[in-house]
Amino acid sequence: MFDYQAPANLLQDKVILVTGAGSGIGRTAAISYAAHGATVILLGRTLDKLEAVYDEIEAAGYPQPALVPLNLDSAPEHDFDELASTLNQEFGRLDGILHNAGILGVRTPLSSYDPVIWQQVMQVNVTAPFMLTQALMPLLEKAENASIIFTSSGVGRQGRAFWGAYSVSKFATEGMMQVLADELENISNIRCNCINPGATRTQMRTTAYPAENPADNPAAEEIMPLYLYLMGNDSLTTNGQSLNAQ
Ligand code: NAP
Repeated sequence: MFDYQAPANLLQDKVILVTGAGSGIGRTAAISYAAHGATVILLGRTLDKLEAVYDEIEAAGYPQPALVPLNLDSAPEHDFDELASTLNQEFGRLDGILHNAGILGVRTPLSSYDPVIWQQVMQVNVTAPFMLTQALMPLLEKAENASIIFTSSGVGRQGRAFWGAYSVSKFATEGMMQVLADELENISNIRCNCINPGATRTQMRTTAYPAENPADNPAAEEIMPLYLYLMGNDSLTTNGQSLNAQ
């Protein structure tokens, strides 16, 4: 999948929601999905970042995106229901979700981990993707086929000292994907999988590894083949997998 070459029209006529679309990997994935024909719904917490991505997509002549400013740290359940209702009116279905938004929390031993930060990390990385998926499931069911992609991490497969809530949240993400994939297998047109992006040149990576030279890690553009593969129809039979983008 590392050298998957997506056809230019891979995502033509698809409606795809990307969380954390204002920066980092989510921004690049949103632009890449739009470049392959998708109408992208840009969800994130910082409006001016979302607007910049919106403008970039529009200037490139890709399908007009939609903007959803939403803070996944504090959004109550009815915000997700309202979003589902708006998307239903606007598009009538949803062909894919990239659950990409995430926060790192702090790097410290569990014995001194701040419970407030623990809750925030669990809320943004696990609970919000669960609530969003649940609210949008009826719209995904209306698509001819649909793809849900969760974002994991190496520390979501093997625990590592001082990675605290982030590591635990990524284990939970892997678990949520597996439970959902098993539930959907054979009864639905919806598939779901996990991507582990691997070390990627973003703000989160710099925060986690401040001493590292950012140039040593690939840019988000370089890990897009797997993001495209799993969102497009070439992966119709892939379900319940946890795959590495590098
Ligand atoms: P990033 O540069 O920090 O971007 C994270 C994105 O999530 C930003 O757009 C951010 O919005 C958004 N976000 C954070 N909290 C949010 C909230 N409460 N509500 C809505 N949106 C929120 O991180 P990244 O490196 O691109 O990471 C993307 C995903 O890949 C994450 O799930 C991360 O865990 C995973 N990952 C990354 C790496 C890596 O090396 N980069 C490795 C393994 C896994 P703002 O821009 O407004 O802050």
